Amino acid sequence: MHTTLIILLMLTSSLIGWSQTPKKTYQGQGQVQEVDTSPRPIQQQYQTTFAFEDAGIYISNEFDGARLNGALMKEDTLMVWITPENAPINPSPWYAFKIWSDEPKEALVKFTYQNAKHRYFPKLSRDGESWQPLDSANYQEFNKGEADFGPNSLPETVVIKLSLDADTLWVAGQELQTSKHIFAWIDSLSQQSYISYSDIGESRLGRPMRNMKISEGKQEDKIVMVFGRQHPPEVTGWLAMKAFVETLTGDSKLAQKFRKEYTTYVVPLMNPDGVDLGHWRHSAGGVDLNRDWNQFYHPETRAVRDFLRKKTDEGAKLYFGVDFHSTWDDIYYTLDSVSVTNTPGLMAEWLSSIEDNIPDYEINAKGSVNGTGVSKNFLFREFGAESLVYEVGDNTPRPFVRQKGQVAAEQLMRLLLDRE
Ligand SMILES: [Zn+2]
Repeated sequence: MHTTLIILLMLTSSLIGWSQTPKKTYQGQGQVQEVDTSPRPIQQQYQTTFAFEDAGIYISNEFDGARLNGALMKEDTLMVWITPENAPINPSPWYAFKIWSDEPKEALVKFTYQNAKHRYFPKLSRDGESWQPLDSANYQEFNKGEADFGPNSLPETVVIKLSLDADTLWVAGQELQTSKHIFAWIDSLSQQSYISYSDIGESRLGRPMRNMKISEGKQEDKIVMVFGRQHPPEVTGWLAMKAFVETLTGDSKLAQKFRKEYTTYVVPLMNPDGVDLGHWRHSAGGVDLNRDWNQFYHPETRAVRDFLRKKTDEGAKLYFGVDFHSTWDDIYYTLDSVSVTNTPGLMAEWLSSIEDNIPDYEINAKGSVNGTGVSKNFLFREFGAESLVYEVGDNTPRPFVRQKGQVAAEQLMRLLLDRE
């Protein structure tokens, strides 16, 4: 009997250096050095099925959204190696793989990340569509908090126990939601006469930048802009955006009235390459797109910028912009209170009305305006819009994510119509 060894892939790949170039700064609470967002290379993930024939276990990354950079069987444990698309990078290690076995058996799977701590609690699926969190009894963390990535650092790892059989088990950091899922959602909403979509550009690798239009009005003078998924693993942000948009497109009286007055545009998938390639954070251009809204070195940010410039040149006014993300906790990153927007005071009213309409809920909001190339700053600077980054916790219960998205949309519609 011999041990099957699969060589860890891409261990030796050279990582690209980071440079920070001081650029212009803007008035605001914080004056910061801007990150250089020039394109840089990414490492290709080698797509394959790793077969451990002695153990009768198979593990694969051959699907959209997968991330699994290497695997090896060491005694009874399957070691999986998860690396980012390039580095340095915000440590949000996304993973997604399929696993199965010849005979029913339990398997231990140990995660090893390159210079990053475990972030996403494992979710399991039998069909790649419906997902449940792993039973916490089958989850164990090692060296938590001890990893400092120095030379003597203990690796922070997670070991999970899986029940395998010949049917595929999907394992991922969050529910798998790729371009296929998001475009299918756009198609289904677009059955309504007042919803249409067009492509406002292409991603670096040629995937469509799909933009939905929601309107029942005769003219398009008042615009709301919604987008998300600049950061591929931020699935809870997408789930909140989905609930938000489904409320705007619903058949309530409020939504019908709103659609007659305001046109909403939605780019739900800002980083289709990163999502389908299973990236931790960056685009196929190798950078964080949500730092590129000053420099516009990337086709994804340029597509939205050029679209909004065209609309506003044609006479429309952008009243509100929201960019959905996920992080450790629910938080609203807004403009500061002294920024004078097209709808002064709207943000404060909106946040407090969300709070008032969700029992026992306390809003966590933080305002700032500075020169960084974050989407909300651009939407304010160039168009005077009230804007924010809407962050949803990674572990926020999904029904609550949905409720918050619905209430946020209802209160926004009500407040914008009140301004008439
Ligand atoms: Zn994000």
